[in-house]
Amino acid sequence: MSLSYSLSAHPSPTSEQEREGILANPGFGKQFTDHMAVATWTKGEGWHDGKVVPRGPFQLDPAAAVLHYAQEVFEGLKAFRHEDGSVWSFRPEQNARRLQRSASRLAMPELPEEDFLGSIKALVAADEAWVPAYGTGETSLYLRPFMFASEAFLGVRPAHEMTYCVIASPAGAYFPGGMKPVSLWISTDFARAGEGGTGSAKCGGNYASSLAGQLEGAAHGCDQAVFLDSSTHTYIEELGGMNLFLVYRDGRIVTPELTGTILEGVTRASILQIAKEMGLQPEERRIPIQEWKDGAASGELAEVFACGTAAVVTPVGTLKWDGGEVTVGDQSVAGGVGENTADIRRRLLDIQYGRAEDTNGWMTRL
Ligand code: PMP
Repeated sequence: MSLSYSLSAHPSPTSEQEREGILANPGFGKQFTDHMAVATWTKGEGWHDGKVVPRGPFQLDPAAAVLHYAQEVFEGLKAFRHEDGSVWSFRPEQNARRLQRSASRLAMPELPEEDFLGSIKALVAADEAWVPAYGTGETSLYLRPFMFASEAFLGVRPAHEMTYCVIASPAGAYFPGGMKPVSLWISTDFARAGEGGTGSAKCGGNYASSLAGQLEGAAHGCDQAVFLDSSTHTYIEELGGMNLFLVYRDGRIVTPELTGTILEGVTRASILQIAKEMGLQPEERRIPIQEWKDGAASGELAEVFACGTAAVVTPVGTLKWDGGEVTVGDQSVAGGVGENTADIRRRLLDIQYGRAEDTNGWMTRL
């Protein structure tokens, strides 16, 4: 039986005036809607008590397993307002399946796909007024489903109680002042993930372990860090929260293959498809970091971009490491944003906001 996510009345929702004020300048991840969807899993019983309740703090026992052993997984996706006022999500079933794969890696129960979609639909129905209006730039309602071990027990074993929750946060344009290439630092001291580890799961621990590399990058004046494979420090993996693509002058568009240490991005998979439709030649393979340095120096490598739900597509300009740096693309043309980078980004946004035909059936009405 699937969860029904019944809605309980909110004693003090945000006033319309206050909400409109927030939606005028939401930023990212700082403002939240009035409700949250929750459900509980208990060993033996399975999933139960799906409901939408006023957003508020959890009552968590200090011995809750997640606080000690980090048994936690999460997702990130967006709800988009179309011109006719309807609200849509981009490939949410992919997020549902990835949450299941992440949960399975962390020895957590899988939430059925229909319960994942049900939770999102129920929350967006309750907080529909929080989905930014069409035509207000690249604004959306960011949805954050997550699941954590809420059982109070200090033994190291899979917890017998899990809490699932979805919160929502209105998101403003990622590049309010126009797209600008970011700089990346090659992190060699720190790895994000190792073979057999949790790199392909979307679990909190991966993000905690990426922070030292990010700080190292920031200390070297870079916006973000790029992580290499942890055993040979030779091959490109990804950023702390985005996948990478390299575009060559001859039309090849290359992204690191999925080795188990990289997150399988929904944006990455969609770009591989869009690139084919654009007549580019997508390739998934191991990419030595040296290939990036050489391609930038020879000019063969025309564009590099990162991709993910939050920013969609972010151009990458400079790559720095201990002892050198290279810059890809002509920084004097189009603000350093490559033609294909801009085209792919626009195509994705046009599908998401309903301005282009959804030929792949990627959009789900919420
Ligand atoms: N890699 C990592 C480590 C991420 O956190 C994300 C964001 N979920 C991505 C890649 C991009 O994935 P998606 O396109 O599904 O947002």
